[in-house]
Amino acid sequence: MKAAKRSNKLGKIFVISGPSGSGKTTLLTSLIQDKKIGKLLVKSCSITTRPKRSQEREGKEYFFVNPLEFRRQLKAKKILEWTRYLGYYYGTPREPLEKQLQGAKNVGLCLDLKGARILKKMYPCNTVTIFVLPPSLDVLKERIQGRCRHTKHQEIKQRMLLARKELQAAGKFDYCILNQNLSVAVEELKTIFLQESST
Ligand code: 5GP
Repeated sequence: MKAAKRSNKLGKIFVISGPSGSGKTTLLTSLIQDKKIGKLLVKSCSITTRPKRSQEREGKEYFFVNPLEFRRQLKAKKILEWTRYLGYYYGTPREPLEKQLQGAKNVGLCLDLKGARILKKMYPCNTVTIFVLPPSLDVLKERIQGRCRHTKHQEIKQRMLLARKELQAAGKFDYCILNQNLSVAVEELKTIFLQESST
């Protein structure tokens, strides 16, 4: 908690949460692609035991590791926060995030609800939480199906079940963005970022 008290010298943490398929990653990527914002914000790359999807690249979307390696890093305290999501492990590497913050850089992360809650607790003065809402559950299902044609029927069902629960937590976030029209949602996110990173 001492880190939080010395918050003025640190960069800010922008946690983007929301159901699978709500568009969190696309929104964060679009934010970083903005010329001005790209100089002020870096994306944290999590490690996961989930299998790599065909379009994903090692070290871009995730670092893909086996459960043994994940546990090794956890034990060695290399993971700042972690979660288990539909049977797979996901975690935020500690060192890169702490270095960026100490260098007054802002860091963007796409995390589940648990991750958002933990980071807000660890860095209350520096963390901005943003929840991304899909336009409807039907659209969400289409997005989950479309994102990966090989996603198993059972996994889609599980992601949808979890999405219903996750949507109930939207009110606990600092901001909510409705991702109906991507460019409108990106503009909203830019406004939030510019406002919050300047205070
Ligand atoms: P996906 O399999 O769809 O890429 O990710 C599943 C969920 O895990 C998403 O809600 C995603 O934001 C979340 N997630 C990804 N990396 C991390 C992480 O390092 N920590 C936490 N708490 N959640 C993560």
